[in-house]
Amino acid sequence: MDSTVSVQQQFSHRMVKHKPGELLEETYTVKDPLGSGRFGKVWLVEDQKTGDKFAAKQCACRRASQRKEFELEIEIMNSLDHPKLLQLYDAFFGKNDVTLILELVTGGELFDRIADEAFDLTEALAVKYIRQICEAVQYMHGNMILHLDIKPENILCVSPERLDSIKIIDFGFARKYTPNSPLKIMFGTPEFVAPEVVNFDPLGKGTDMWSIGVVTYVLLSGLSPFMGEDEQETLSNVTACDVDFDDDSFDDVSDDAKTFITKLLDIRESKRPNCAECLEHSWLSKEDQHRKSLSAAVVNLKKFVARRKWVRSINAVRAMTRLQAGLKKNDDPSTSK
Ligand code: AMP
Repeated sequence: MDSTVSVQQQFSHRMVKHKPGELLEETYTVKDPLGSGRFGKVWLVEDQKTGDKFAAKQCACRRASQRKEFELEIEIMNSLDHPKLLQLYDAFFGKNDVTLILELVTGGELFDRIADEAFDLTEALAVKYIRQICEAVQYMHGNMILHLDIKPENILCVSPERLDSIKIIDFGFARKYTPNSPLKIMFGTPEFVAPEVVNFDPLGKGTDMWSIGVVTYVLLSGLSPFMGEDEQETLSNVTACDVDFDDDSFDDVSDDAKTFITKLLDIRESKRPNCAECLEHSWLSKEDQHRKSLSAAVVNLKKFVARRKWVRSINAVRAMTRLQAGLKKNDDPSTSK
């Protein structure tokens, strides 16, 4: 069954090479803020010649190692041409910052929309979303790229009119993957990272599949399966793979959905189903079933979204403080290279 919702892409896939930062202001006019992420802000911008609108992700960046990270992000985005994956349009490297000009997605964050009063979340709709995520990640994995940061805030609705159609954004943590050379990382978002990330063990395609399992759990219940009192407790819940469906919010959720999640939240990376297997799973194959409203999940999701926003704002302040400290250090001639 192909659930792909056709999406109008603003422009065809482009191979982007970064340009000098000075050209940015000559080309685009900055309009409104759209959001903020780990490293910086995202703005609505307009091409001065054509009037076309884009999202500009601007990040302070002075160290050569940070620039290398952005070069990798650009290289990865250049290799990804899929309607469910955000497309890169242009890139500018200034003296102190990097700006990525991205396809504009106007529907906002999926979980924000679901937490709206008027939204009628059903399992059938959840199936539609998870199918789209699996299709996008399947394409990435087919190109030997791991996303490594699948989480609610990186899933956007294409437009306010198309709330059933999503796109995956943010390839800042994405990595190329070669099966015989072990890839290990020490980053991610505690609630959504797999046990092998926490244990600093080799990663694989299953690492993204775990995060899809967590996103599915949250989507159907509004609850975060591994959330602890603090980050340390969250990480130990992840490594203990301590997950259950005991909460009343799961009363209206089908057994098929619970089996699907359980398969993804397997502590053994290699045992988790891949995207093709997920798309074949009976839960994802029955888009038209389970039309009952998941009202308990929506109530919980409001709290989930509010808490995540709070955590993100704290992280943004921390990132800013670290950045300022880094800038001061770089300004010190005794430490400059
Ligand atoms: P990021 O730094 O990529 O995680 O983005 C931070 C936030 O900015 C996201 O969670 C979105 O709310 C918003 N955002 C990022 N990219 C776009 C885009 N292409 N179009 C519209 N909003 C975006």
